[in-house]
Order: sequence, then structure tokens, then C-alpha cells
Amino acid sequence: MSMETPDPAIGDIRSGRLAEDEYAHNFGDAHPRLTPNQALVESDRCYFCYDAPCVQACPTQIDIPSFIHKIATGNIKGSAQDILTQNIMGAVCARVCPTEILCEGSCVRNTPEQQPVAIGALQRYATDALFDAGIQLFKPAPSTGKRIAVVGGGPAGLSCAHRLAMLGHSVTVFDARDKLGGLNEYGVAAYKVAGGIALREVDYLLGIGNIEVRLGQALGRDIGLQELRSKFDAVFLGVGLGAVNSLGIDADNPAGVYDAIEYIETLRQSRDLSGLPVGRRIVVIGGGMTAIDIATQTKRLGAEDVTIV
Ligand SMILES: Cc1cc2nc3c(=O)[nH]c(=O)nc-3n(C[C@H](O)[C@H](O)[C@H](O)COP(=O)(O)OP(=O)(O)OC[C@H]3O[C@@H](n4cnc5c(N)ncnc54)[C@H](O)[C@@H]3O)c2cc1C
Ligand code: SF4
Repeated sequence: MSMETPDPAIGDIRSGRLAEDEYAHNFGDAHPRLTPNQALVESDRCYFCYDAPCVQACPTQIDIPSFIHKIATGNIKGSAQDILTQNIMGAVCARVCPTEILCEGSCVRNTPEQQPVAIGALQRYATDALFDAGIQLFKPAPSTGKRIAVVGGGPAGLSCAHRLAMLGHSVTVFDARDKLGGLNEYGVAAYKVAGGIALREVDYLLGIGNIEVRLGQALGRDIGLQELRSKFDAVFLGVGLGAVNSLGIDADNPAGVYDAIEYIETLRQSRDLSGLPVGRRIVVIGGGMTAIDIATQTKRLGAEDVTIV
């Protein structure tokens, strides 16, 4: 069933359940940026541990005590440089990483009596400040003469493209969609990445130069692997995990049943959330992270009752 044409026969599915300001409130920034004072106070809580467990727990191995120390001493640019040199997607990661089970979960200040250092919030503070100041930290090395094709402009493809450009290679990114960012732009819960940060990060990343972007180009439809292999010195495939499990029931598209990832994609790209049809009473099938995301976001759209089974 199309989301634009809800079928009244299958229950109370309709748009415009909330007032305008309620949509803005429910989908606004979940955790606003720290103020300079809050950032100073929070950075002062760090013990700058030797062999810091927070760094061991970070999948991108950012030197966390170093970037926090730089915030504490007013060197915000240096702090952002520590973060982005290690992880160019550090601004969105600061918002979406499950820090409570990674860096903050391992922080030595995470005890029954104390809170861990707010590493994610501090990372966001430094990277947002850098983007606001419009400072480009990276430039390409002298050209190697090599051309690399990157297929997929999500976090994996973009990180790869940026690092290759830094090393002096000439990179072309192909993506099937009409915007870069992958699930940062089309999947992650709207209130975690409010204010267009996913595209802002893409712009910053492309600011290095040496990266050509070709949108609306799907591998297997518009371009072929052999063609890429013959035209480029190397090919990186970063197309993500697009397929989802099906329900495995007889009807292909049962009325009133939506795929959560498709629904979230529509929600993320919607300019007017009041136009999105949503059920009054909703059942979410499955209990993973996407289930939590669709449950919380349909509730934020005005569903009265959401049950996860
Ligand atoms: C609903 C949802 C919520 C999530 N929330 C979080 C979260 O809060 N925190 C977190 O850490 N992670 C979250 N994730 C996971 C996170 O989004 C992924 O781990 C991450 O996006 C993977 O990056 P990727 O670059 O590998 O793939 P993707 O982000 O999927 O990017 C793949 C890119 O390849 C392109 N592509 C696909 N096929 C082709 C083709 N044939 N030709 C050309 N281009 C193609 C796509 O258009 C896309 O741009 C969430 C995922 C989902 C689905
Ligand atoms: S574990 Fe906590 S206190 Fe130690 S360096 Fe990391 S953030 Fe600072």
C-alpha cells in the first residue's frame, strides 16, 4: 500500500495527528549542543587516562583523552583535528554512536556513583564548532596519478573516498540515490541527526577536493563492474546491506503493513511531517534497533499506542 493513499478500511491510518509545533518539538535535536561553559566543565572531568579504556572501546580508535584535553585548554580546532583525522564521519558518529556501550561504557568515571565523561557530546561540540568556523583541515597529497572508483556514498564509501583523496588518489564516487550519506541521510532516526548534519558532514568531507561525485548511478543498472575495473586502477564497493527480511506470509503487501526502513526513509526525506500517514494503534514486528527507531518515531508522529512484538 502506498503511504500517500491510506486505506480507511484498514483502520485509523491518517496524517496530521499533531499541531505544527508538536512536529517541530518531537523531531528537533534530541540533545542540543553543549554550551562553551558546559564543554569546559565536562572536559575537566576527564582524568586523561594513560592507556585509556575509552579509546580501546572506540571502533575508530579516536584519541579521546587528547581531544578532550584540547577542549579543556581552548584548542577546539586541534580537538576536531584529533577526531576527524581518525574518523572523518566524527560529527554524525558523535550523535548516533551507541556511546553508552562503547567509549562512555568503558570510561573509568562510569561508576554507580558517577556519570561517565560525556564523550559523544564533547565530540559533537568540537566538530560542530569546526564546521561552523568553515575551517578545512585536510588537503590532498601530491597526485599519485591513480584513479579509484568508490561505489556507494554511505559512511563506508565516503570515509574510504576521503582517505584515498588525502593520499593523493583521484576518486569518483558512484551512488544509486540522488543524495550522498547512505543511511546517515536516509535511515538514522531524524531527531538524532537534526539540522541537516548528515549532508553538512558530506559537504565538509568533499571539501578536500579530488573527489568527483556521480549520483543516480547504480552498479548493475547504470554501470558495470567490468567497466569500472577497466576504467579505474581500483574499485571499492561500499553498497551497504540493503536487503531486509520479509515477513514470510502469503500476502506480498498486506494492507496497512509497512516496511520500517522504507517508512523511515520517507520520514527522513519529508519536508512536511504532518503529511505522513500514521496509524493510531501500531504493532511493530521485530525487536532490533530499527524496531525501536520506528516505534519511537511513529509515537513522535502522533500514534496513540505502539506495541513491539
Ligand atoms: C533504521 C536504521 C537506523 C540506524 N541507526 C543507527 C544509529 O543510531 N547508530 C548507528 O551507529 N548506526 C545506525 N544504523 C546503522 C548505520 O546506518 C549503518 O551501519 C551505516 O549506514 C552503514 O554504512 P555503509 O556505508 O556500509 O552503508 P549505507 O549507509 O547503507 O550506504 C550504502 C550506499 O550505497 C548506495 N548503493 C546501494 N546499492 C548501490 C548500487 N548498486 N550502486 C550504487 N550505489 C549503491 C546506497 O544508495 C547508499 O548510499 C541504522 C541503520 C538503520 C537501517
Ligand atoms: S576513560 Fe574516561 S576519564 Fe579516562 S580518558 Fe577516557 S573519557 Fe577520560
